[in-house]
Amino acid sequence: MHAMPPCSSLGDNKINTSKSHLSKALSFIVSPILKMWKFFLLLLTNLFAKTALAYKTGPFFPNTLFDSSYCLSWRVAVETNNAGPWATVPIECVLYVGRYMLGGQYNRDLETVMEMIGAYLDGMEAGDDDMDAWVLDIDDTCLSNLLYYQGKQFGGMPFDPAAFKSWAGKGMCSAILPVLDLFNKLIERGYKVFLLTGRDDLTFRDITTANLHNQGFVGYERLIMRTADYKGKGAKFFKSAMRKQLMDEGYRLRGNVGDQWSDLQGDYLADRNFKIPNPMYYVP
Ligand SMILES: [Mg+2]
Repeated sequence: MHAMPPCSSLGDNKINTSKSHLSKALSFIVSPILKMWKFFLLLLTNLFAKTALAYKTGPFFPNTLFDSSYCLSWRVAVETNNAGPWATVPIECVLYVGRYMLGGQYNRDLETVMEMIGAYLDGMEAGDDDMDAWVLDIDDTCLSNLLYYQGKQFGGMPFDPAAFKSWAGKGMCSAILPVLDLFNKLIERGYKVFLLTGRDDLTFRDITTANLHNQGFVGYERLIMRTADYKGKGAKFFKSAMRKQLMDEGYRLRGNVGDQWSDLQGDYLADRNFKIPNPMYYVP
């Protein structure tokens, strides 16, 4: 005759069975979630990044409301100057341009331009007479205004001359580091570097000089700014005249770097022109 198990033992078995079922049920629910934790984390990070960027850029555009393939085509048209003069970034491309500028592709494109300039430089040498020269633009070539344009929907808002003057007057633009590297390399290799900007000479010379120096642009040959004679003239006209002046002084302009086509077109051109990407604004 088998001995009956004690009542407490029967109760324990029931409890153990219930625990086992509960454990299986929890495992059934929790396990797939745990397996997908990476996916959820990625999803959350992505959502956070989009929300943060949308917050910075103003109106919230869900992904479905902009066409990135159109915006990529628009940016290519702008960079190749097929677009010609344009006033503001199309509203449907504001988020795209923000992502382009902050998300890594702008930096990658910039690095590629620098690699191409590097390849060009490696195939030549500066002469011993100190007359081989390069011309570099300042705004969004040497110094970045990205911080300012972040507050202007990356160029989605119309240009505001007073606000921009106020920003430039603070002297807080940061160096575009790949261009600073190029600047130093040019000087090391014996080229004279001329910084050529449409900024007003009278108002901005001191603060621009200070800003360039505090960002490491030291050792250039001359800072050429827009004087009263060129007030109201287009950048292409002004910069052509300044290049002519340099050529008249005997300088051989071996290269010219700028973020605007008006830096690189016109007369008295350098041997090679290099366009830095800038989909945020157009200067005629
Ligand atoms: Mg510029």
